Amino acid sequence: MDDSDRLGPAGAETLPYPRVLVKVSGEALMGPEAFGLHPPTVSAIARDLAALRERGCEVAVVVGGGNILRGARVAGEDLARATADNMGMLATVMNALALEQAVEKAGVPARSMSAIAMPTVCEPYARQQALRHLRRGRVVVLAGGTGNPYFTTDTGAVLRAAELECDAVLKATNVDGVYSADPKRDPNAVRFARLTHDEALAKDLKVMDAAAFALAREAALSIIVFAVQEPSSITAAAIGEGRATIVEP
Ligand code: UDP
Repeated sequence: MDDSDRLGPAGAETLPYPRVLVKVSGEALMGPEAFGLHPPTVSAIARDLAALRERGCEVAVVVGGGNILRGARVAGEDLARATADNMGMLATVMNALALEQAVEKAGVPARSMSAIAMPTVCEPYARQQALRHLRRGRVVVLAGGTGNPYFTTDTGAVLRAAELECDAVLKATNVDGVYSADPKRDPNAVRFARLTHDEALAKDLKVMDAAAFALAREAALSIIVFAVQEPSSITAAAIGEGRATIVEP
């Protein structure tokens, strides 16, 4: 990011990643439930985002929608994939509204912006306006993924991180990093502390879906993978602490 974009509060310059894009999947907001939102989990994530902002970090968030609807899963003979994906993108807007309100309740101003314009519900996404919100200390919750069917919110996260000149993508998952094999199935699976994009590609490790990962590599964006269930894990990942895998150029 250039200097004109780096107007965060004093202290931000001591952070390893002064501006971050946090990817929060729909599943992360579901907590122990099988569907939808789990309010205590949403509040805990929002408090963590607010705490990170209060440390001086500029925080953008891309939310998923898998806790409500995934296009590929509901598409079929009677429902075109593009329509199903539009429904999935609308699901992310619901999550964004819940998260926006929870961040504000945690004492930090927040703004939802949607890639699918619905101005009576939240702001339409516009890069310059999103940058303005970030510089003014607002947590920006980005909904609607890329705004296009056939993509995922992981791709949306990397895309927004690149255009908003974020210093890292923090990918909040169910696992505390990237492993050599599925740790649930293979007791010999080892967790990587650090990897380059090229190493992750050569080892065929699943960090993000292929389109998202290719864009992160192209944009030389660091990706930090960590388990969101740990308390304050978002802040820990952003300040370079906690268990995580860092994928960097
Ligand atoms: N989606 C889409 N384009 C995008 C982002 C999302 O069509 O750019 C749709 C797609 O149907 C996807 C759903 O929205 O299944 C929810 O997003 P995602 O599966 O990425 O959510 P997560 O797994 O992160 O909860």
